[in-house]
Amino acid sequence: MSRGAVADDVLHALRDEVRTFLRTELADGAFRPDVDSWMTGFDPDFSRRLGERGWLGLTMPVEYGGQGRTAVERFVVTEELLAHGAPVAAHWIADRQMAPSILANGTETQKRRYIPGISSGTVFFAIGMSEPDAGSDLASVRTRATGNGDTWSLRGTKVWTTGAHIAHAMVLLARTDGSTEDRREGLSQFVVDLPHPDIEIRPLASIDGEAHFNEVIFHDAVVDSSALLGVRGQGWRQVMSELAFERSGPERYLSTLPLLRAWTGLLREHGATPEQRRTLGELTAQAWALRQMSLQVARELHAGGEPDVLAAMVKDLGSTFEGDLVSAIRDASGAIPRRTGGTDFERMLAQAVLHTPAFTLRGGTNEILRGIIARGLGMR
Ligand SMILES: Cc1cc2nc3c(=O)[nH]c(=O)nc-3n(C[C@H](O)[C@H](O)[C@H](O)COP(=O)(O)OP(=O)(O)OC[C@H]3O[C@@H](n4cnc5c(N)ncnc54)[C@H](O)[C@@H]3O)c2cc1C
Repeated sequence: MSRGAVADDVLHALRDEVRTFLRTELADGAFRPDVDSWMTGFDPDFSRRLGERGWLGLTMPVEYGGQGRTAVERFVVTEELLAHGAPVAAHWIADRQMAPSILANGTETQKRRYIPGISSGTVFFAIGMSEPDAGSDLASVRTRATGNGDTWSLRGTKVWTTGAHIAHAMVLLARTDGSTEDRREGLSQFVVDLPHPDIEIRPLASIDGEAHFNEVIFHDAVVDSSALLGVRGQGWRQVMSELAFERSGPERYLSTLPLLRAWTGLLREHGATPEQRRTLGELTAQAWALRQMSLQVARELHAGGEPDVLAAMVKDLGSTFEGDLVSAIRDASGAIPRRTGGTDFERMLAQAVLHTPAFTLRGGTNEILRGIIARGLGMR
């Protein structure tokens, strides 16, 4: 078997185990399936229960509290959690991209300090990349870190920082040298513990009235020199690797799959028109094709590859699909989205409609991803 390959019976057994757990949780009323649950389904107890079962930090080495398993096994676990709309937002960022980043770039102290907590579902992280004037053009970040050998002083503003209000730490991208004209040079990353007396976290309300992300202001916040993550000045290279983990997972096409499952349940119960059957078939076929592409990304990541172009394709096609799915089901079902007072399906539909605009923006917009694809194909 090649590196990264896992016997089918091992994967089936793992999938069965996760499904059994989720069925029990649902029967106990521990959670209610939601769309976009990896972004907004915050439940620290649920995250802890996953950690106890060894389903977080799956690819992390055992010596740091991980499970030492493969990216494909992680794919199976995350796929089931997402498809069931389980509340995984609390640990999502930490488990998806911060554990691998700290493993790749962190000091031994940082690895021992953060990875075990991430793997047990008790330490949550935020991503400190975007700024008011630096989104797609990330290299123009202005947040500055000034060092004196013992400490770093952080000044600047980050925005759209998902979960900063509940995170135990943030990985921050800041300029340590040069000016914004130097672009990719002179950037560094830091692991900043939260909360911090000189870091202000202000909630930003989204269209559904909830506040999952924040504006984060650093008022000359002082952190120890040991907060530097990786090599000073290598922040751009490091952040690009982090983004590969952020962009490549199954959450980039499965955010609204719980809606498809809920609708399928209704059609089974009440019967389907030929038109509804056609819509269901088309959506299922698209989801299946995306799944094969996403699995390939997981396999390549595990084999030590850098599947940036394939990951960009999955995110571009996948994030478009998860929005198209909502419109298709809304049209085919004829249901009215209702945030409150309706059925579970109408509530999920309302949630999906309100979340759709974010799908093709978060984690890098589709225009930017298409640029990466064009470059990968040698067209730029
Ligand atoms: C729900 C959600 C959660 C988020 N969470 C986080 C988080 O936790 N941490 C974090 O750091 N950031 C986060 N973000 C921010 C996200 O990464 C940015 O919104 C995204 O990178 C786009 O940046 P911008 O919003 O500044 O838009 P802009 O960069 O201003 O882009 C505006 C429009 O112009 C287009 N555009 C820009 N440049 C080009 C170009 N060169 N070619 C073609 N078109 C272009 C874009 O595609 C877009 O349509 C989140 C965003 C959302 C929606």
